[in-house]
Amino acid sequence: MSHIVVVGAGQAGQQICATLRNEGFEGRLTLIGAETHPPYQRPPLSKGYLLGEISRERLFLKPEAWYADHGIDLRLGAPAENIDPDARTLRLGAEVISWDQLAIATGLAARPLPPEAGGDLGGVFTVRTLADVDRMEAPLKAARNVVVVGGGYIGLEAAAVGRKLGAEVTVVEAGPRILGRVASAETAAVMRDIHIEHGVTIREDARLDRLVGERQVSAARLANGEELPADVVIVGIGLIPQCSIAQAAGLKCDGGVIVDAYGRTSNPAIWAAGDCALFPFRGGLARLESVQNAIDMAQAVARNMLGAEKPYEPMPWFWSDQYDVKLQIAGLNTGYDRVVMRGAGKVPMSLWYFCGSELRAVDAVGDARAYMVGKRLIESGARVAPDEVADPETDLKALLKR
Ligand code: ADP
Repeated sequence: MSHIVVVGAGQAGQQICATLRNEGFEGRLTLIGAETHPPYQRPPLSKGYLLGEISRERLFLKPEAWYADHGIDLRLGAPAENIDPDARTLRLGAEVISWDQLAIATGLAARPLPPEAGGDLGGVFTVRTLADVDRMEAPLKAARNVVVVGGGYIGLEAAAVGRKLGAEVTVVEAGPRILGRVASAETAAVMRDIHIEHGVTIREDARLDRLVGERQVSAARLANGEELPADVVIVGIGLIPQCSIAQAAGLKCDGGVIVDAYGRTSNPAIWAAGDCALFPFRGGLARLESVQNAIDMAQAVARNMLGAEKPYEPMPWFWSDQYDVKLQIAGLNTGYDRVVMRGAGKVPMSLWYFCGSELRAVDAVGDARAYMVGKRLIESGARVAPDEVADPETDLKALLKR
């Protein structure tokens, strides 16, 4: 009987298994996860779960019985090692497992602050896994001064939670502005204002020299010598694709596991999906860090593993909750030549990125309608005049009717 092994029990790995079964795959199916928990949703970790608003049970994508019910051998608590593409085996602890097709969905790990910068002091946390958040919960609730290193989504979401829990919060961002990787300057400005209104101190262009303390962190020292008191430090300085297992197997990687439009790696029996996969996009290669990409790509790849031969077409969208404001992004804002704003820089507002009359992306801050209309226009490839979008008199929904 044919055996498919999926390495990585996150959102993408779970979805590959679900789609394989939905599409009628009746062979053996094994899902291997390094963490001890069955696949869970990560987005609530840095928001509702950390705040205690979402229970642990609600994080799990499926109850444990679902795996057995679907004939999925869920192997948790040990990472797969040593993929041998020629012998079609991998090692799991003392066991050697044979496979016919393999899917890699190993995702991302939090980029740690190095020990020489104080990253190994007590009270310093990253936010990627359930275990990370469980460790952080009690110290964060007790903290008076929280320093967040990194002003990306993760850092800002953690800053919002820190404020809600009553701490003084300072965000230290090394770059010239927050959200440098994911959003435009205009969107970052609106998000900055929201954080300042909630009492967060945002330090941009601020280089962290190191965290100081005996065994426990007590302050964050900046490159200019200033020391910010801290009893908890949350590190949100980006994520690293986990491709060492793919690399060791000789698969082509370049800051991600390189796949073709179908999700196949440089070895035709091995596939990759989700956050770790680097796929063809707009003439280059792209990797997306989002739940939507994990789910959609996993579905496409699972179907292709069963012979569908249908390219994956990403429809990127992202969201982030900070306080009671939702930031939603549809599309990817690369290669644009004009940005149009609706809403005068205050919530609700949206930014529309055009290349000529092609709408490439929309950022919406507290404006679900703009997001919904923008997403549909991007997906349908409809042409829209930037001036029309810019006109506050334009009824956005009417744009969909043409
Ligand atoms: P995440 O998904 O973790 O939020 P991003 O890459 O979107 O990741 O954001 C990480 C942010 O951290 C970036 O804005 C980056 O400039 C910032 N950063 C990286 N290293 C440091 C550092 N040592 N000190 C302060 N900020 C940093």
